[in-house]
Amino acid sequence: MIASSKDANPDSDASSKPEKTPFFVDKNAPKNDAVDYPAIEDAVRVILGAVGEDPDREGLLETPARVARMYAEMFAGLKSDPGRHLEKVFEEDYDEIVLVRDISFCSMCEHHLLPFTGKAHIAYLPSGKVVGLSKLARVVEEVARRPQVQERLTHTVANLIEDRLSARGVAVVVESTHSCMTMRGIRKPGSLCLTSAMRGAFKTDPKSRSEVLGLINRSAG
Ligand SMILES: [Zn+2]
Repeated sequence: MIASSKDANPDSDASSKPEKTPFFVDKNAPKNDAVDYPAIEDAVRVILGAVGEDPDREGLLETPARVARMYAEMFAGLKSDPGRHLEKVFEEDYDEIVLVRDISFCSMCEHHLLPFTGKAHIAYLPSGKVVGLSKLARVVEEVARRPQVQERLTHTVANLIEDRLSARGVAVVVESTHSCMTMRGIRKPGSLCLTSAMRGAFKTDPKSRSEVLGLINRSAG
């Protein structure tokens, strides 16, 4: 995580810490108790100073606090169990494919701390238990709220659904655009990264696999 180092801040005298300017606080913003907001604020000031900015100029005064709240929101899934959304299940005599397509998400690439955004498609083959469809979206949302790589996001979601629903098959396909590829480095806007995780029948039975991929691809674009 981000380390806090007051001494490295060129604009902060260790003996007299500058007073925090009051700023607008959104009282409705969820507070993430696991996050050390002041440590993030200090770190952001250090980064701003390190790139040659003046963290005390007017336009940047509230930036550290804003970034702290943003990180708290972006990483809210770090300490939670996304599988809890799959606890309430319904007994249902249905054993065909259940598919939820186009679940949008925004996550944070753990290599650059830049966002990657896209869509997840989730399919499963129930074994007597189904879950509310919106719960699948909640699982994606929560797994995405961590420093992440797309590959891990994809198989974490697949594993959760396989385990918690005892599904006979699970297919998760994720497509997303990575800011670290479009804004910096190789700079390839429009490039799409695709990952998939197949479990159970979707992994072992080519017919089930092509059926589910056909349904997922029909939604693409
Ligand atoms: Zn990256």
